[in-house]
Amino acid sequence: MSKIKIAELFYSIQGEGRYMGVPSVFLRTFGCNFKCQGFGMSKGELSTEIEPIAERIAEFKTYEELPLVSTGCDSYASWDPRFKDLSPMLTSDAIAERIVEILPYKTWLDEHLVITGGEPLLGWQRAYPDLLSHVYMNQLKEITFETNGTQRLTSEFKEYLEEWYMKMPGTRCVTFSVSAKLPCSGEKWEEAIRPDVVREYEEIGYAYLKFVVATEEDLNDAERAVDEYRAAGFQGPVYIMPVGGVERVYTLNNRAVAEMAMRKGWRYSDRLQVPLFKNEWGT
Ligand code: SF4
Repeated sequence: MSKIKIAELFYSIQGEGRYMGVPSVFLRTFGCNFKCQGFGMSKGELSTEIEPIAERIAEFKTYEELPLVSTGCDSYASWDPRFKDLSPMLTSDAIAERIVEILPYKTWLDEHLVITGGEPLLGWQRAYPDLLSHVYMNQLKEITFETNGTQRLTSEFKEYLEEWYMKMPGTRCVTFSVSAKLPCSGEKWEEAIRPDVVREYEEIGYAYLKFVVATEEDLNDAERAVDEYRAAGFQGPVYIMPVGGVERVYTLNNRAVAEMAMRKGWRYSDRLQVPLFKNEWGT
């Protein structure tokens, strides 16, 4: 039986992208290939906000006790190895049982499953078929992978998803919400902007791009990236979303980002989890 290292598993409202407002189960896997230390920082600077938290790691017994951060990656504990002991390795049976417990009617109705991270398309692709084939997951119709768009799908996982569709023809949907990282994240362009990878997601599901922006410079970077994705044949929609894992930062630029979206003819994505739930863990 497959196992997955799970940073968080909770039920909430999807706050971002295509399924904004939809009741959703969030499965946050452990591990990421990036660090995104540039978010919320001046150009060229990297956040060190998690360093004092990591030094006090012994004080924190659960994920929920960890402090939120306003710079860098807001889900730092889902990939930084110093926090790995807060994320248990669970069998697919244990995960499916926990999911059924937190669904309001103890079965899937209109809820959707979000597999997020960290980066959920790292090695865990080999474990998802066991989980998605579990009897408790039979009624699930919609899944979103929240990915940074740098990881290719394995041929085994692609084949599995084709079979998964065919069990409920015409009703199931897999979405790839690709939050491609612009230079404001602190990651390198050539590693973060991978049109060749994202184009492949469209062959197996519905895919869209979602960029976190704060400034006109970010917007110009997003435009350059979109040009590269389009040149590779990518056809899905483009969302832009304000930076800000805490309300103080988010409210500074959400309106400006909405106006940028209107100007470009792109979609605006909110971060409903910030005004609704203050972006606390488990929301
Ligand atoms: S890709 Fe996502 S999870 Fe990974 S470091 Fe960046 S923001 Fe965090």
